[in-house]
Amino acid sequence: MTDLSVRVEDKLYQNRYQVDSGKVHIKVREHDKPSGPLRALLTACPARCYELNDKGQVEITADGCIECGTCRIIGEASGDIEWNYPRGGYGISFKFG
Ligand code: SF4
Repeated sequence: MTDLSVRVEDKLYQNRYQVDSGKVHIKVREHDKPSGPLRALLTACPARCYELNDKGQVEITADGCIECGTCRIIGEASGDIEWNYPRGGYGISFKFG
């Protein structure tokens, strides 16, 4: 029987992430004021990788990225972000079960 009381955040915590230091796999285009797609990423990313800095610009910390592709769909076509998978051996390792 599935335990419905487990929170998504607790499940995400079970995953492991291998950081590829100095080689970020998602970049946010430089901007002064965030576009609509960039603002949408603040709430669309399930891992909460996007945040506003103290200048009101959108930044990404991709260390917890689960490579779901949501931000790629929202922000790549407009040029707001540049999206790539991490290099082999880096990024998310999912724990199933
Ligand atoms: S791929 Fe998914 S988890 Fe990773 S930064 Fe984009 S929206 Fe967030």
